[in-house]
Amino acid sequence: MASSGMNVAAFQKDKAYVDGKWVSAKSGKTFEVTNPSNGKVLGSVPDMDRSDAQAAIETAYRTFQAWKSTLPKERSDILRRWFELCVKHKKELATLITLEMGKSFPEAEGEIAYSANFLEWYSEETRRTYGDVTPPPAHNKRVMVIKQPIGVAAMITPWNFPSAMLTRKIGAALAAGCTVVARPAEDTPLSALALCELAEQAGVPPGVVNVITSSRENASPIGKELCENPLIAKISFTGSCAVGKLLLSQCANTVKKTSMELGGNAPFIVFDSADVDKAIQGLMFAKFRVTGQTCICANRILVQEGVYDKFVQALAKVIDSQLKVGDGFEPGVTQGPLINKRAVEKVENLVNSSVGEGAKVVVGGSRKDGPGNFFNPTLLRDVTTEMSVAKEEIFGPVAACIKFKTEDEAIAIANSTSYGLASYFYTNDISQSYRVSEALEFGMVGVNEAAITSPETTFGGWKESGLGSEGGKYGINEYLAFKNICYGIQ
Ligand code: ADP
Repeated sequence: MASSGMNVAAFQKDKAYVDGKWVSAKSGKTFEVTNPSNGKVLGSVPDMDRSDAQAAIETAYRTFQAWKSTLPKERSDILRRWFELCVKHKKELATLITLEMGKSFPEAEGEIAYSANFLEWYSEETRRTYGDVTPPPAHNKRVMVIKQPIGVAAMITPWNFPSAMLTRKIGAALAAGCTVVARPAEDTPLSALALCELAEQAGVPPGVVNVITSSRENASPIGKELCENPLIAKISFTGSCAVGKLLLSQCANTVKKTSMELGGNAPFIVFDSADVDKAIQGLMFAKFRVTGQTCICANRILVQEGVYDKFVQALAKVIDSQLKVGDGFEPGVTQGPLINKRAVEKVENLVNSSVGEGAKVVVGGSRKDGPGNFFNPTLLRDVTTEMSVAKEEIFGPVAACIKFKTEDEAIAIANSTSYGLASYFYTNDISQSYRVSEALEFGMVGVNEAAITSPETTFGGWKESGLGSEGGKYGINEYLAFKNICYGIQ
């Protein structure tokens, strides 16, 4: 498993991190963290409740009063050191990801690089939160707009990117001058706590980053506290639409600013003019990375009738030859387990119901026997837009191929969803590439490209996929309040 020279134990914590201290739950309760590849217990962490959340919020609020006045350059230096430490310890951090979340070790290393890059990006953005001096509206007035840190930012994050979903938010918040209370997913708290260890080493002052851990049972009361407590100025959430909507409703009473990165139902369109091999390589990434468990994974694969059969046949071969299911530490494994039993059952039900409605299994179609939450990579053909596999977010390694005739039809199908996160299409017709990218109602569009995210650009969804955006030049604005200062002059 772990290669020599690494000290993973130094990063595996069994306490939460509040006010710069490693702390237990007030109740003394803990919960276990398990490895989804084999069900083995990795350790336990505090099962905190609403009162622990209150204490962390008070700490973050107190700390905010000093942190907000630090110079951007000071915050930049700290974030830069944090980035460098994450890079230095990338193998230890990646090991924790593979242990608690299951993704293959190379994918976990990729996540740490991505995660660290957000800290680097925001260390740079810290010094660029320019305001405006605007032309005056009257002779006796002068007007400017400044941006100030919004206050304490609360974060609730999912398990599929246990490190990057936190740094994308925390990096922006710290750069802006906000302090943080974060609750990582119950499946993957270890990666979050390891980040705290490095934050401390980087010089993040006590109370600026607070991470509280809890079981699923306490997720709801903690979430309620984060939404309702008036000392919190901002909630940033990444997760399901259902929980996002609940949090939004809970935030209404205190009119919290919110950022929501919710689910997706990404279309992946292959037009007749496309380079089929390129499209297949793109799809392998967009569909099967993290075993299909990302919110921007291709969900509905729309293939034009002229290339449909060729595409499906070639894809089947590539799935057979390129994908290997197993424990993420095993060399050559590309497909780790699904996160838990519930996820396996959901994917199995989607496949079975589609087959019942006429879809055909070309590859896979079932779970892998033995321990662990494994599902075999699956290719379905003759899928229709009416099937639940096309309507729901699959979140598993199932490629569902739908046939279409015209560009208009493809756009209509692609947009016929309440989601609007990522979309992809492959074409070699330049006019078509403009038409389609402008017609798609999604926050992100990959044109002949499947790896569409990076710290330099915006990540965010339209429609019910979310509010606000992360990364890029706009990401820091989610943690800044704009202030109009109007001077009356003689
Ligand atoms: P997923 O399907 O990825 O688990 P969820 O939206 O259920 O998506 O979970 C995302 C995060 O939200 C996790 O950290 C989870 O524990 C947390 N969560 C789930 N339910 C609630 C809730 N009622 N209030 C606050 N957080 C919640």
